[in-house]
Amino acid sequence: MNDILPEETPAWRFLEATLADLLTEYGYREIRLPLLESTELFRRSIGEVTDIVEKEMYTFADRNGDSVTLRPEGTAGCVRAAAQHGLLRESVQRLWYRGPMFRHERPQKGRLRQFHQFGAEVFGLPGPDIDAEMLAMTDRLWRRLGIHDALELELNSLGTPESRAAYRAALVAYLSEYRAELDEDSQRRLDTNPLRILDSKAERTQVLLADAPALADHYDDESRRHFAGLRERLDTAGVRYRINPRLVRGLDYYGKTVFEWTSDRLGAQATACAGGRFDGLIEQLGDRPTPAIGFGIGLERLLLLLQATGGAESVDRGLPDAYLVAADAVAATALPVAERLRDAVPDLRLQCHCGGGSLKSQLKRADRSGAAFALILGEEEAGSGSLTLKYLREDRPQQRLALEEAAAVLGRECAAARRCV
Ligand code: ATP
Ligand code: MG
Repeated sequence: MNDILPEETPAWRFLEATLADLLTEYGYREIRLPLLESTELFRRSIGEVTDIVEKEMYTFADRNGDSVTLRPEGTAGCVRAAAQHGLLRESVQRLWYRGPMFRHERPQKGRLRQFHQFGAEVFGLPGPDIDAEMLAMTDRLWRRLGIHDALELELNSLGTPESRAAYRAALVAYLSEYRAELDEDSQRRLDTNPLRILDSKAERTQVLLADAPALADHYDDESRRHFAGLRERLDTAGVRYRINPRLVRGLDYYGKTVFEWTSDRLGAQATACAGGRFDGLIEQLGDRPTPAIGFGIGLERLLLLLQATGGAESVDRGLPDAYLVAADAVAATALPVAERLRDAVPDLRLQCHCGGGSLKSQLKRADRSGAAFALILGEEEAGSGSLTLKYLREDRPQQRLALEEAAAVLGRECAAARRCV
């Protein structure tokens, strides 16, 4: 589990703010959910025979002996909350959330045990129009973050439950003939979760899959109509995608549309955003049948992309605009002067020197702080209600200014000088 250090938080805040703003522009509202849920919720929604439930959850008994789990993903809790608070009774819900998720995996680049997701879910819309809008929204998101060129949309349809059942039978019949040649995981999955064999990485299994029956050949009318409707809308909106017939996703609750945004800049952990439609889940959890679709973005992987494409260098690092230094004899007046400046320039980022020392050493600190201006409060300045403003990043003469004038200059120049280095 990772610490996120002060050098890294500006890029995180940039990502989080950009995502939240964009989702708001599309009419989504934020929901905040607990990190801990009953284990049962995840077992029932994610599915017993999935990587997450089989081997990745942080599960323990609380003081009452109830089994609880640190959330490994956000959809289950979001559905639980929406059902519990009657949100599903209202016509349509567009929701987003973000925060840490927990999975006991082997930590490596792009894979952590506490990682962060930004997720969105829409409840109450059955048609492909919302699927298309959601994908157009993520497409715009990458553009806004400047990482669009590094990502590709992979798309598939798992079809309706009926067509999936027909396909499942055909796939099992075919693969059973080669059972002994399958990798160990796939042999196990043949009995429990055969569709997951499609994304096996084992070479021999891959070869066998090349001649396996295709999911698309088993779509019923409804599956075909939905998928065609989605593709048509993406085409007219200019959202590019690649059909990946092997894309099945690891969670049990998906049906019809599934998608992943992947990148060749991320190494082995290539998926930055993944999601799909889960029309059956809410009913399966005991509430009224409600169509639903959602996605989760792995923020650590998005950050890696931002770094790989150079976008992380231009985020606001939150450096001070100005650094106030004061001569020893008048040090006690620094605080009221600073507070008056803060009153006059509401968003001013002003760092006040604390801890004394010579003006020379204080000015060194001012320089190291990254501030654009040093504000010098010497004995003369203090006596006349003024400040000396020194430009730290530009070759301009310093000027002595009355406090009000100094405030006016800072108000004018700070935003412009707020360097994004
Ligand atoms: P993967 O194939 O990488 O294991 P997944 O299918 O398990 O991913 P999802 O459950 O779909 O992942 O989660 C959505 C997104 O969350 C992923 O696409 C990825 O960006 C991110 N993610 C998942 N697990 C981790 C992890 N352990 N560390 C960092 N990010 C993760
Ligand atoms: Mg995983």
